[in-house]
Amino acid sequence: MKNHVKALVVGGGAVGTSIAYHLARAGWDTMLLERDELTSGSTWHAAGLLPYFNMSFATTHIHDYSIRFYKTLEAETGLNPGFSVVGNLRMAQSQARMDEYRLYASTAETCGVPYEWLTPAQMKERWPLMRTEDLVGAIFHPTDGYINPADVTQAMAKGARQFGATIERKWQVDGYQWTGSEWRVTLTKMAEKGGNLVPTEEQTVVTAEHVVTATGNHAQRTARLLGLKIPAIPVEHQYIVTEPDPALVEWRKAGNPEHPVLRDADAKWYVREERGGWILGPYERNAPARFAYGCPDSFRADLFPLDLDRIEEEYMSMIHRLPSSETVGLKDDYNGPICYTPDGNPLLGPAPGLRNMWLAEGFSFGITAAGGSGYYLAQLMTEGEAEIDMGALDPRRYGSWMTTDYAVAKNEEAYEHVYILHHPDEERPAARPLRTAPCYDRMKALGAQFGQVNGWERPNYFAPEGFDDHAARSFRRGGWWEYTLAEAKAIRETAGLIDATAFAKHVVRGPGATAFLDWFTCNKLPKVGRVNLTYALTCAGTVRTEYTIVRQAEDVYYLVSAGGWHAYDEDFLLKAVEDKAAEFGPVIVEDVTTRHGVFALAGPNARAILAGLIRDADPATALSNKRFPWLSARQIELGMVPVNALRVAYTGELGWELHHPIEMQNHLFDRLMEADAAHGLKPVGARAQNWLRQEKSYRAFGTELGRDATPLEAGLDRFVDLSKEFHGKAAMEATGIRSKCVTLLIDGPEDADPWGREALYDGEARVGRLTSGGYSVAFGKSIGMGYVRPELAVPGTRLSVRMFDALWTAEVVGDSPHDPSNARIRADG
Ligand SMILES: Cc1cc2nc3c(=O)[nH]c(=O)nc-3n(C[C@H](O)[C@H](O)[C@H](O)COP(=O)(O)OP(=O)(O)OC[C@H]3O[C@@H](n4cnc5c(N)ncnc54)[C@H](O)[C@@H]3O)c2cc1C
Repeated sequence: MKNHVKALVVGGGAVGTSIAYHLARAGWDTMLLERDELTSGSTWHAAGLLPYFNMSFATTHIHDYSIRFYKTLEAETGLNPGFSVVGNLRMAQSQARMDEYRLYASTAETCGVPYEWLTPAQMKERWPLMRTEDLVGAIFHPTDGYINPADVTQAMAKGARQFGATIERKWQVDGYQWTGSEWRVTLTKMAEKGGNLVPTEEQTVVTAEHVVTATGNHAQRTARLLGLKIPAIPVEHQYIVTEPDPALVEWRKAGNPEHPVLRDADAKWYVREERGGWILGPYERNAPARFAYGCPDSFRADLFPLDLDRIEEEYMSMIHRLPSSETVGLKDDYNGPICYTPDGNPLLGPAPGLRNMWLAEGFSFGITAAGGSGYYLAQLMTEGEAEIDMGALDPRRYGSWMTTDYAVAKNEEAYEHVYILHHPDEERPAARPLRTAPCYDRMKALGAQFGQVNGWERPNYFAPEGFDDHAARSFRRGGWWEYTLAEAKAIRETAGLIDATAFAKHVVRGPGATAFLDWFTCNKLPKVGRVNLTYALTCAGTVRTEYTIVRQAEDVYYLVSAGGWHAYDEDFLLKAVEDKAAEFGPVIVEDVTTRHGVFALAGPNARAILAGLIRDADPATALSNKRFPWLSARQIELGMVPVNALRVAYTGELGWELHHPIEMQNHLFDRLMEADAAHGLKPVGARAQNWLRQEKSYRAFGTELGRDATPLEAGLDRFVDLSKEFHGKAAMEATGIRSKCVTLLIDGPEDADPWGREALYDGEARVGRLTSGGYSVAFGKSIGMGYVRPELAVPGTRLSVRMFDALWTAEVVGDSPHDPSNARIRADG
């Protein structure tokens, strides 16, 4: 065995093997270690389905790569991975389900994934064994199907070897130690003993510049060895295999093609053919999480006992859909651990706090995702960035607040939700409320309907007592729409108060702080007392983090970034500080997120509301443009509360962000709300804020802003100081403008607005995609933001957007269509 490699991959399931293949293909000296045999984890009992369907842009790219890649493996390796391209039929029992598919189809189109629509009659004609009269339609993917998980893994392993990788079986990783320049990895030789896999006395050490862990159900052990929290905990997943179904056998004997993979999402199952019978895979309620504190070392390719009672409902509904299956007996059953994460996405990317340590854990569709995950992770590792934004999969999306109980509750929920209607306005209930601002109860009493962001409860909108948020969800305008409309109007006409406590907040200070931040971010640093919007870039010159940055003293900066990305941003910042310590001198980073609450007060009456509360020698001028200009920050006193007030407004109205000691939040809240009657102050939720910021073309992190666009492509030129050197500058300039961020006003359907996932067309040609969507109160029509080819990013260009399978006119407008001169934000008084 080699004792030093560039990359060591731990875990020989589908995922680890694909990563080893792609690292070796990229030219890295790679070794794969497996404690048992390849595919002896979850991979061996997977049903092998390769569904394209999912609602995420990044994941669709990953699945798309896998499906295309697996089709090439036989030619490359001589091993047939057993890919049956039978297609995938996703049925709908309701119009709401069809709406879900239409929204999904928009995402599929933005990634170039082919699909067709089928009516019940067309389905019956093609697959007469199916009952279709109670269906309203289906979406059909002709190019996916299922694969043999063991064969595809072996083919990737052979491919990896062909590119020079070595694969060592029966070696278990038992320890990791970072020396400052490489990982010292301790391995134990495993041996078969009486049918068990046991450690031997033989140990060795391998050093590696980079380590990737892809340890499947053993993720908790890996977490312990690395001193990390990893919310990858398996849930039981079963499927059953029936005896041959005579009707099916007959149908195939007559020369008919194999059935596509069938998915009756409303009945919560998938079905495919297996040697003349059927495989039924349900996603039932109450499937329990397993191995929350670690998978026993003795657990190999083991299974749990079948729990038929739990899947009775799904079984009966299969019989309803395929009546000939009623008389067919059960031949086989599988109940295995399937790893989940709280949001159902894998954890793929850098490990928090560690150098050159990469996680590839928590895969619930690991056969489908393995190919693309290997490809994009290898890009990230070998080139510094991947061609898609991997943020949504980044392991650092869960902060240190995450616990085992949380992961168990959310993972069980994620499993159960695989086939629920994926409303874009969905909020899932498990493990809530957990992280609450002090004003939570007050907001709730005012009718707040909360969403969860990074564990925090944040009002989405406010509704009357008894309102049912769950029933109000829709793929079109949900029951919440009218309340959001009223809140958006309040900000434009009177005033609104938004709880923005979830913001991530860091203080960066010390003798090296100014030089460091000047290098780390692309805009000029603000003068003392001023506020700037600025960006930290990736090494590829794309947007890594958006900061509102306040210079509190010569070498003291207060950085505010997206609440949903706290740990993700913090890890990037801390590693950059450490890397640059020798060059710039000492820099101290302090996380003050949970120390300060934040209220955003905005609207024409915002100044009058604060004027009633501010304590100042000259209250009449304290909030004037002269003493408190736009984009400045002041320490003020509102009643008895010391407030770090920032004159900024993400909604595009006169406003202040009031950063206050969190323990005084309720006092401040009560004082502000007392202004209600006189000034029309309304509590406002995140949905109205999202609409309003689009009228001002304010880009949001995670939608317009991410690792797939440079700030110049995002149209943020005015926040980029090209006269200075900063991290990512050369790459940003070299990238040029591949596409450009625009704002569009849309004449859409009467009952719907875009969600920000839809494809944009110029005539017949697909020319871009929306990244945000909503309704504009200022223009009385739908609004959206997105990316189009640069030559189309010209105000007045008429494009169309696909919504609900029809094309609707979308006109590119100049940035900030509402109040382009910022007169309202700058209003004096
Ligand atoms: C019943 C069932 C049906 C499924 N059907 C599908 C499907 O149709 N389509 C789909 O896409 N997915 C399906 N899945 C999910 C799929 O099986 C997993 O997502 C996938 O196998 C995960 O692959 P992996 O490589 O991450 O993990 P694993 O296959 O579990 O591999 C991890 C490997 O790491 C090794 N390992 C762990 N710790 C160490 C260590 N310290 N040192 C060395 N080696 C170590 C283990 O021995 C194991 O071989 C199904 C799962 C189940 C349970």
